[in-house]
Amino acid sequence: MDLVKEIKKYFLYLNELGFNYIPANKNFKKLLQNNTYLSENTLEKLKNTLVNCEKCPLHRVRKQPIWGEGNLEAKLMLISEFPDKDEDFYGKPFVGIMEELLEKILKSINLTRKDFFITHAVKCKTPGGRPPESEEISACKTYLLKQVKLIKPKLILALGFTPPKIFFNNTPTFSSVRGQPIKLKDFIILFTYHPSYILKNPAVKRLLWEDLQKFRKLYEEIFRIS
Ligand code: SF4
Repeated sequence: MDLVKEIKKYFLYLNELGFNYIPANKNFKKLLQNNTYLSENTLEKLKNTLVNCEKCPLHRVRKQPIWGEGNLEAKLMLISEFPDKDEDFYGKPFVGIMEELLEKILKSINLTRKDFFITHAVKCKTPGGRPPESEEISACKTYLLKQVKLIKPKLILALGFTPPKIFFNNTPTFSSVRGQPIKLKDFIILFTYHPSYILKNPAVKRLLWEDLQKFRKLYEEIFRIS
């Protein structure tokens, strides 16, 4: 028996029964906050759990959690930060002006959004579009990690400051991971700026462009495209 899993399961069960206070010592609480355990072993089950998720306070301000959309066969994943109010309203990633911008960016490297499965690091919108807090990221990260595990992308393009906080326990600074292909388990991930950041900081447009060229090169190497 996996004792750690059983303990987590028991505490999650108590939590679901409505116990807001779990009489556990701080080590047990830490274990729960890490929350890397979810029993869902298919995308469908994971999606069903996500739809009703109330694991962090963001469930109170969202209209709906955003699962993501796109091509599950392409082995390319694109991870954004967290839904904005339009994405929350329409229930999918990258809508309106951000959709146009994303398409332009991907076109510059001969790809389209249909080549990717697109999702967010944190699945619910935040109040006023503020960055998610560490407790919210911690509560939500299981969904993305499980999506990656089940979809099995070979190459991931991660946009913005939130995704590195999901993949590394000792959170690195964004600038220390940006623009360098990083091999993690069975995939390579490249962290770069989110297009919305470029709108406010046009000076970093060149860096995004350089990172995209690296991504294209990786894509060609991994999928042997010439
Ligand atoms: S942000 Fe994630 S953990 Fe929080 S309620 Fe939404 S889906 Fe659940």
